[in-house]
Amino acid sequence: MRKGFSEWIDTLIRTGIIERYDISEKAYLRVSGPVRFVIPGDKIRELMRQYESQTEKGGFLVAKHCTKNGQSVLTVTEVVFIENISPNPQDSYQFHMQHAKVAVENAFSSQQFPVIFHTHPTKANSFLQEIKEYSDQINTSEPDQVAAASNPYLTRHGRLLLPEALIVCPGSAMNGIFVGLYGGLIAPLDFKKQKHKLLYNSLLNTTLKTLSFINNPKDAAIASGIGLSLATFLKQLSPVNKRRVGEGIQLLPLLSYAYEGDPKYFAMSAGKKLTIDLPKPGGKDLDKQAFFIDNNFG
Ligand SMILES: [Zn+2]
Repeated sequence: MRKGFSEWIDTLIRTGIIERYDISEKAYLRVSGPVRFVIPGDKIRELMRQYESQTEKGGFLVAKHCTKNGQSVLTVTEVVFIENISPNPQDSYQFHMQHAKVAVENAFSSQQFPVIFHTHPTKANSFLQEIKEYSDQINTSEPDQVAAASNPYLTRHGRLLLPEALIVCPGSAMNGIFVGLYGGLIAPLDFKKQKHKLLYNSLLNTTLKTLSFINNPKDAAIASGIGLSLATFLKQLSPVNKRRVGEGIQLLPLLSYAYEGDPKYFAMSAGKKLTIDLPKPGGKDLDKQAFFIDNNFG
């Protein structure tokens, strides 16, 4: 066992920073909510710099815990990239096991949490396609969800599960980043429930407002159409407006402001500090992952 690891885990349990969560009468550990997850600006910029729009990358966001004004906070202190050994790196991430093990040991021996992350690529042959790719890629895949349930860390009190992070930059030519946290028995496995309306509305509103198409009644009607998919929206645009949308996506980082006040499970940033608040977990959101975990370890 790692030096000081057990004592550290004991302290985290005693102080309520992590807590026990039972599945089929077996003990697991999770980070207690509510907890704030912070990625400082320099780490955000490092992730943006390293992002590749054609290949999945990944590794660990090493996070240190502290309590600030009574609030539980995890702050990323280091980004560790681990080589992707997947035979299909354009659409899957599989880390080099031995390198990952070393990174986990290093994180725990400095009393920090190794939060696994991976990216989704958004490369396409046009700006319009990239908007669509971005919109499609900012969610976890089924394999992501299964994997999130299969990476716990052994402690003498049970297996510790941590949330994982999904990172997506909007296309090859843009400046901005999406970070979402899922799993860890604290967050849902996907962002569907939180994402869709919020994202489409912000995306459309921001793009449309910025480009002032809203003067055109037809496009305004399209924009306000509830439940209309982005693909459908794009199809209906006139060629001139298509080009404008293409130009407009360069302004997507503006979206980060649309999320202020509601950064729950995911957030966007144009290069500044990013904050995600994970509320106290509960309800049906955990059922699916409890099932996956029980299948793996029950
Ligand atoms: Zn994925």
